[in-house]
Amino acid sequence: MSNLDKSPERRAADILLRGGKMLALACPVCSSPLYQTKDGDVICVVCNRPVKILSKKEYEKEMLKDKDTQKKEDLTNKNKLISKQDKNTKNLASEVKEKEKTEIKHNYNNINNSIMNAYDTLSNKLEEIMMRIRTEHDLSTLERLLSVVEKIIDLMLLIEEEY
Ligand SMILES: [Zn+2]
Repeated sequence: MSNLDKSPERRAADILLRGGKMLALACPVCSSPLYQTKDGDVICVVCNRPVKILSKKEYEKEMLKDKDTQKKEDLTNKNKLISKQDKNTKNLASEVKEKEKTEIKHNYNNINNSIMNAYDTLSNKLEEIMMRIRTEHDLSTLERLLSVVEKIIDLMLLIEEEY
């Protein structure tokens, strides 16, 4: 019987019988427990694949490597695309791109500024209303003031969350 025909349970049993052990780690793909053979190989018996255990640092390095590879691939694709175009189109494309970049940034700053202004206004209003609440004795007025306070705080929290 080849390894492929075995059930996950059978594979696990084989590893255990041969002096391996179950690890307190789960397979990153299927979340089943991982097994370590006597030779030190870590295996997922469900995926029937070896699993490389990395330290956090190693893992981050691997992810970075993957990202770099991706970047390089993107770049190669881009270069391929550009080399297909003639010089004029290339210049035009880079010009448009530059414009897009500055415009997006500009708009983003504008949004941020008006949001920040709104936040400041709300915070000032909140202070004003809190002062009034401090001296207000009429209950129905107090109730109205409090409901405004509630709305203002909701809005401020929303802004804090989103920006
Ligand atoms: Zn697995």
